[in-house]
Amino acid sequence: MPLYEYRCQSCHRKVTLLVRSQSQTAASCTFCGSTQLSRLISSFAVLRSEESHMEDLADPSRLGDVDENDPRSIARWARRMGRELGEELGPDFDEMVDKMEAGEMPDDGGDEGAAMPGEI
Ligand SMILES: [Zn+2]
Repeated sequence: MPLYEYRCQSCHRKVTLLVRSQSQTAASCTFCGSTQLSRLISSFAVLRSEESHMEDLADPSRLGDVDENDPRSIARWARRMGRELGEELGPDFDEMVDKMEAGEMPDDGGDEGAAMPGEI
């Protein structure tokens, strides 16, 4: 039986519903009863095999045109990856992607402000 995931527009919880037939459209939030539900990307694949899905995402051939030296390019890929996962990755992730879109490489912590080796 298919499971569908929704985001409740009213209480913003993630709602997982068993859909017994294609004609069943009156889905409602199991928490607050709201029918304002928006369908999330199916996470079947993630639930079935999270590991192999992650491997797929990490497969370099899926990076396509990503230029690892171009933060904007990485940001585009990161957003696409976030969508595929169908999860909210949190404000930290958004902030990081925003910075990359602004042309900044995400810092790896600790050595901010340090001169690059070989830099005069
Ligand atoms: Zn709700």
